Amino acid sequence: MNTTITQIQLFRGRLAFMTGDPDISGKRALSFFPDGILAVKGGFVIEAGSAAELSGRFPADIPVTDFGSKLIIPGLVDAHVHSSQTLIIASYGEKLLEWLQKYAFPEEDRHRDFEYARLSARLFINELLRNGTTTANVFTTVHPHTADLLFEEALSKNMRLIAGKVLMDRNAPDSLLDNPEKSWSDSAGLIRKWHNRARLGYAVMPRFAITSSAAQLGVAARLLRDFEGVWMHTHLSENLPETALVQKLYPDCSGYWNVYEHHGLAGPKSVFAHGVHLDDNEFGRLGASGSSIAVCPSSNLFLGSGLFRFGQAGKHGIKLGIGSDIGAGTSFSVLANLSEAYKIARLGDVSITPKKAFYLATLGGAAALSLDNRIGTFKPGFEADFTVLDPGADPLLQKRTTGAATFSDLFFPVMMMGDNRIIHSTWIMGVPCYKAPTSPAQSAAS
Ligand SMILES: [Zn+2]
Repeated sequence: MNTTITQIQLFRGRLAFMTGDPDISGKRALSFFPDGILAVKGGFVIEAGSAAELSGRFPADIPVTDFGSKLIIPGLVDAHVHSSQTLIIASYGEKLLEWLQKYAFPEEDRHRDFEYARLSARLFINELLRNGTTTANVFTTVHPHTADLLFEEALSKNMRLIAGKVLMDRNAPDSLLDNPEKSWSDSAGLIRKWHNRARLGYAVMPRFAITSSAAQLGVAARLLRDFEGVWMHTHLSENLPETALVQKLYPDCSGYWNVYEHHGLAGPKSVFAHGVHLDDNEFGRLGASGSSIAVCPSSNLFLGSGLFRFGQAGKHGIKLGIGSDIGAGTSFSVLANLSEAYKIARLGDVSITPKKAFYLATLGGAAALSLDNRIGTFKPGFEADFTVLDPGADPLLQKRTTGAATFSDLFFPVMMMGDNRIIHSTWIMGVPCYKAPTSPAQSAAS
């Protein structure tokens, strides 16, 4: 594990963070300092504000890491992603159920091999960091060792990460099935080993209602009851054939949402990926349960699943995060997924403001994962996970953002045009975990 840096660290640059949901708190929700300082001690934020105000408060001999005009933001949050699907990103030509059969299940089956699973976990964590993502809510595979290896890799970087083993006991290849008894014992063992260890959290993870029997959903609910504080993470209402099949498999339930509701899987620590085809009644009940939705824009477009109804979700006050949903998603970058989210919302005659988008990618994503008391902003006492964005890393984005007068003027082109190319560095509790390589051209220019 990374050693904690105990002395005060000062980081200077353009500084932006949200302290609330702009739909609720309005202008006050954003803190933006064109010349700001982030002060960190022992991995936690001690102050964040304007350089003019803060620079005199600390002894002059404390070194300052000066990022110049680069933008320091809280680490990006990926609310739904599959660690075992990194190498099937951009697999051609199928919709959800066929895509699972043709690409996802064979790739997950390869994770039976311990060494393959180990390399896969390492690749996945490195991709998160390369994209400025410091926290993720992660699906693995049915194999307990895949969860073990991912947790070990995240622990080695001291990341705040939620994961678990997948539960599947039907409608998938035999080699990927467990059963209710084994899903209980494997999950319980992993929870005891990993939940609340360092910055890690465990999520009970039935893949979706199609691949879990009623008995297995019952086991999932029992795990939630018996192990206080664990998360629940699954898929919900992603595409129409899936939704129809769920109704056929659970004829006594009134719809897809009701399957999870009926089996005791709804609640404030439950995260449902997609929710594309929920009706108003389902949105209302999901919101009332305190559950959240991980919206997966690039995945929904790539698989042709449908367009998330941001307007309806907003009316019901549902907590939303942004999920890359790799490997059906087409980019690990939360920024790139914000760009797709904006376009999807436009097709529903809704405009996601730059501040709202920034919120969804940081503090809102943390709230969707019930982590907004620890990460997602730079309030004193919060964990100092942050990402440094360099709009100048892309020549056109540099031109487009030069002279930006407000945060929104700066961040909108950043989220529409940005991706891993503009990640300068990624920091976990004040420790650098990724730094962009310097290109020969940049070296010559500097
Ligand atoms: Zn998914």
